[in-house]
Amino acid sequence: MSGPHPKHVLDQYGVTAKKGLGQNFLFDENILQRIVDAANVSRLDHVLEIGPGIGALTRLLVNSAETVTAVELDDRLLPILQTEFGDAPNITLIHGDILEQDPSLLFHDLPYKVVANVPYYITGAILKHLLSATHKPDLLVLTVQREVAGRLSAEPGNLSLLAISVQCYGVVEQVDVIRAGSFWPPPDVDSAVIRITLQPDAPIYDTDEVAFFRVVRAGFAQKRKQLKNNLRALPLSKPEINQALQRVGIDGSRRAETLSVLEWVALTNELR
Ligand code: SAM
Repeated sequence: MSGPHPKHVLDQYGVTAKKGLGQNFLFDENILQRIVDAANVSRLDHVLEIGPGIGALTRLLVNSAETVTAVELDDRLLPILQTEFGDAPNITLIHGDILEQDPSLLFHDLPYKVVANVPYYITGAILKHLLSATHKPDLLVLTVQREVAGRLSAEPGNLSLLAISVQCYGVVEQVDVIRAGSFWPPPDVDSAVIRITLQPDAPIYDTDEVAFFRVVRAGFAQKRKQLKNNLRALPLSKPEINQALQRVGIDGSRRAETLSVLEWVALTNELR
């Protein structure tokens, strides 16, 4: 089932899709509904949508959530969104860059969910921005590149700095796959929907956040190097590093991608 074709909507307003802003518009209503369902959006929820575009996902969110706050960077799309949603009482349209929005100012102390088909060129930056915010979301359901979804939901053996930076806050699941043809214009790659459920007792809260990221970043600095050698970038002596590794039972000859989030937390606490 398809909604109005994005090309027709854009033509009506004399606008063309901008590749540089990651503009690939979803128009398969079934997929859009599956995204909303994956976030279990109900009338109790306040939702942040990143990049509403021409409003296909926004329409479903407005119909199911208590409130929707939609942040769109492209000023050419604002008139389309205003025409479509100007009368809806539960939407706030913001013209701006998501990376400059402070969720504490948008939602105060109300809990919120993020539901979005994100612009792929800033997926990592969006995750970093929202997960490190003082007021974090409870849940994120995001359409991302399929390859990125695989990296985010990877397990020890294949973990990356990106995966650890997200999994330390909660559980990551890949919940759907979307073919490129479901978008217009189609992106060069297939996409997937991921759900990140943040946990109040996530591993990161058992350590110091700044120290944790310093240790993990050092550990991943050079992919081919053993962990004990990468950790030499920290302002610690070789014996201090080796002793810490020994005390937490981590073999220093392992590679960073094999360590679980819990092992990184234990190591950070030992090195501090
Ligand atoms: N939500 C629509 C959909 O599902 O069809 C559009 C998704 S499209 C992949 C990404 C949207 O994010 C575009 O509308 C683009 O203009 C917008 N965007 C790009 N960079 C942005 C930024 N830094 N802040 C907010 N929106 C941005």
